[in-house]
Amino acid sequence: MTDCLFCRIVAGDVPADVVYETEATLAFRDVAPKAPVHVLVIPKTHFPDVAALAGTEPGLAGEVLASAAEVARAAGLMTNGYRTIFNTGRYGGQEVFHVHAHVVGGAPLGPMVCM
Ligand code: AMP
Repeated sequence: MTDCLFCRIVAGDVPADVVYETEATLAFRDVAPKAPVHVLVIPKTHFPDVAALAGTEPGLAGEVLASAAEVARAAGLMTNGYRTIFNTGRYGGQEVFHVHAHVVGGAPLGPMVCM
């Protein structure tokens, strides 16, 4: 069994609140939401981060972005806007090393970066 949490969600071994799915991507609510809408969008195949995904399968990276936009549209975020975030590596604050886009919105999100 894989020790990757998001691979285990894809496999159905760990429950998730799935909001959108395509053949290649899965979107589910973040367990600790930082905004009224906070959804994670992942490719179903494992890549550790967005650089690895884009470098190996740029088409799949595009599918993740398209799914993120669809999630935002379905959540009603297009009128006021939203943010798509790929935390990458230690300084980027990445905690789960299966690439994921955070789709956050539903309220003003504040400054882009806090240090
Ligand atoms: P990051 O810091 O960019 O790696 O983000 C990882 C995100 O995964 C965090 O926002 C966590 O709240 C979220 N998370 C961790 N475990 C789960 C889970 N089982 N289901 C949904 N979201 C999770």
